[in-house]
Amino acid sequence: MAPVILVLNSGSSSIKYTLFSGDAVQLNGQISGLGAQPHISLKSHVTGTRVDRALSAVEGSSHAAALAALLPSLEQELGGQGVDAVGHRVVHGGVSLTAPVRITGEVMRELKRLEPLAPLHQPHNLAGIEAARAAFPKALQSACFDTAFHRNHPWVNDTFALPRPLYEEGVRRYGFHGLSYEYICTYLKQTRPDLYAGRLVVAHLGNGASMCAIRDGQSIGSTMGFTALDGLPMGTRCGQLDPGVVLYLLTTKGMTPEEVSDLLYKESGLKGLSGISQDMRTLTESDDPKATEAIDYFVFRIRRELGAMAAVLGGLDTLVFTGGIGENSVLVRSKVCSDLEWLGLMADEAKNRDGAEDISAERSRTRILVIPTNEEEIIRRHTEKLLSAETISA
Ligand code: ADP
Repeated sequence: MAPVILVLNSGSSSIKYTLFSGDAVQLNGQISGLGAQPHISLKSHVTGTRVDRALSAVEGSSHAAALAALLPSLEQELGGQGVDAVGHRVVHGGVSLTAPVRITGEVMRELKRLEPLAPLHQPHNLAGIEAARAAFPKALQSACFDTAFHRNHPWVNDTFALPRPLYEEGVRRYGFHGLSYEYICTYLKQTRPDLYAGRLVVAHLGNGASMCAIRDGQSIGSTMGFTALDGLPMGTRCGQLDPGVVLYLLTTKGMTPEEVSDLLYKESGLKGLSGISQDMRTLTESDDPKATEAIDYFVFRIRRELGAMAAVLGGLDTLVFTGGIGENSVLVRSKVCSDLEWLGLMADEAKNRDGAEDISAERSRTRILVIPTNEEEIIRRHTEKLLSAETISA
């Protein structure tokens, strides 16, 4: 019988979930507003059942309570079949966890040790794991890491120019969004092997945003570094910043580390620049000049990184847009691609508007693709592999 795999992406205030039977999505949805105004949405792709309702404060009080509230819907959907495995998205695998793993006590201890490196994500990922272990005690639990895809990138991209002991203790450029990059690579390998083998830049543009230079399916460099703060500006995160600004905030302005952290993670990026919203749709629809400036800065950083990545790759064969903004914003794609003929890159505006996968103009040397990412599918595949490896060795 096809294995039943539940994929969980546990964030600070939400749990996104997808239930697979084999490789078919059976049900998906999310619990949002944890700790505030909890809400569950769910759609069964088999029966067409939809749930869209508020949860009680108790049901939404923690990841464990939220997962417990979801259980009856899952059980109803599965009709007596159990969940064989739960695959978790985990933001940080550090230096040692470079491939998906079965979660054991030892792995949990290592993941906990890494919490300070991703304080806004890792603790919530771990809360999701704890909740799933309690809810599905017999299921295999796997962890799939956003950092793993980058672990073999060149040393020059792994290090900062800081004294060596800091590198040795783990102050490195890890890079994130690796599950998304891996999905795009496997998709290209299957559908366009010539492009997969070439010089590729993927722009994952969502609430979190980063770019990755890839050759032969391997990460050569990414815009994110030690934490998910670096590189492109994001919904609420600042992106690239002179470290002197942090010193200024701490010393001259006397802000506490917590205040600085909040400023950089939660009040900056598109939200901070526009003073209106972190949401690209809202900014696109606004006629406030600050909204336009925020979009212009976002585009400027993407173009700058694209030029840098083309230099590192020695040219560019393919640019892929993905993530909520990359997949949906005609405006951002159009602005990023304008006047880049020197890089061999020309978009066809009609194709860009019409939702084509290949939006490059006929005479563009570089292909420009729009590919929806699917991190859940990558987690499912890895989890299924771990599951079958265990079945064979048992
Ligand atoms: P996350 O990083 O949280 O997974 P997503 O990948 O879902 O985020 O991306 C969310 C972003 O995508 C938001 O800024 C949202 O405004 C933007 N977005 C979604 N649809 C559109 C659209 N049609 N036009 C412009 N931006 C869009």
